[in-house]
Amino acid sequence: MRNTLYAAALALTAIPSVLFATLPAAPEYAPLDRPLTIEQVPGKDIFYSIGNPGVPSKVNEGNTSNAGYVITNDGVVVFDALGTPSLGWELLKDIRKQTNKDIRYMVVSHYHADHIYGLQAFKDHTSATIIAQDRSSDYNENKETADERAGARLSQRQEALYPWVNKKTRVISPDITFDDKMTISLGGKRFSLIYAGPAHSGSDIMMMVEPDGVLFAGDIVQNSRIPFMNSDDVSTTQWLKALNEVLSLDPQFIIPGHGKPSAQAKEAIAFTRDYIQYVRDTMNNAVTNWIDFDTAYDAADWSKYRKFPAFDNNNRGNAYRIFLELEASQFKK
Ligand SMILES: [Zn+2]
Repeated sequence: MRNTLYAAALALTAIPSVLFATLPAAPEYAPLDRPLTIEQVPGKDIFYSIGNPGVPSKVNEGNTSNAGYVITNDGVVVFDALGTPSLGWELLKDIRKQTNKDIRYMVVSHYHADHIYGLQAFKDHTSATIIAQDRSSDYNENKETADERAGARLSQRQEALYPWVNKKTRVISPDITFDDKMTISLGGKRFSLIYAGPAHSGSDIMMMVEPDGVLFAGDIVQNSRIPFMNSDDVSTTQWLKALNEVLSLDPQFIIPGHGKPSAQAKEAIAFTRDYIQYVRDTMNNAVTNWIDFDTAYDAADWSKYRKFPAFDNNNRGNAYRIFLELEASQFKK
C-alpha cells in the first residue's frame, strides 16, 4: 500500500515536470474561441500568424495584428507578440508544436497595445530576451509623447477585450534596447533589426532575415488595410522615407504588421505608400489654400479607400493628424 501510494505520488510529481519541459500545464490566460491562423513562408522555417483586418474588438478577440517566428538550429527568434496574453500564449503553443528549441529572442516591432500584450506569456513562460528600440520606453515613461498613453490604453482594452485583457494584464518592458541598428547571428541566419521611426510610432523597427530574404516590416507596411496614424508620434514624412528603405532592402517575402503577407513585396509596400501620399496630397491642398479641415475632408474623394478594413475607424483621424502635421511644417524654417 505504502509503495503504491509512493509510486502514485512519484507519478504525479513526474508528469507535470515532464510537461513543463515543453509547456506549463495550466495557463492563466482566458481561452480563445477562435484559433490563430498560422501560415508558413514557402520553403522556409519561418511561420506567421495572420490577424483579422479590422480594429480590436470582442468579435475578433483582439487578434488584429500579425506576428511570426523563425526557427534556426540554435533556437527561435520571434517577431511581435500579438494583442492579448491569451494570443501570446497561443503563439507560444504553436511554436512548441514545431520545435522544442529555446526561444532566444523576442523582437518587438513597436510599443502599441495590439503588438505587445502577448509579451506577458513569453516573459512568464520562456527565457527569451525581449528586444525593442530605445524609444519604446516613451510608451510607459513619457506621458506627453507616449505612443498611445499606455495606462489609458490598457484600461480601454481591459473593457473592450475582457476577459482576454484583464486586471492581471501588464505591459512588459524590453530587456535590451538599441538606437539605430542591431544584428543577431543565430544558427546560420542573420537578423538585421533596423530602426525605421519615428514613422507609425516613435519606436518602429523592421527585421530582415537573411539568407531567406524575409522582412518582418511591423506597422511600417500594412497591406490592404487603412493604417492607424492618429497619434502624436506619427510622422508621415519619415514614414514615406522608411517605405523607401523597405524597397531598397528588396525583400523576397514581406510580413506586414497588419494585412496580407506577400511575395510581391513592392505591391504590399505600394498600398501603404500610396495611401499616405493620397491623404497628404489631399490635406496639403487644404492647408495651402486655407481651407478648414472639415470642409476639406467632406469634399475629398475617399472612394478608393472606403472599402478597405479599418477605414471607418481610422481615416478621418489620419487625415486630421496629417492636416496638423502639414500645417505645423509651414511654420518651420
Ligand atoms: Zn499595429
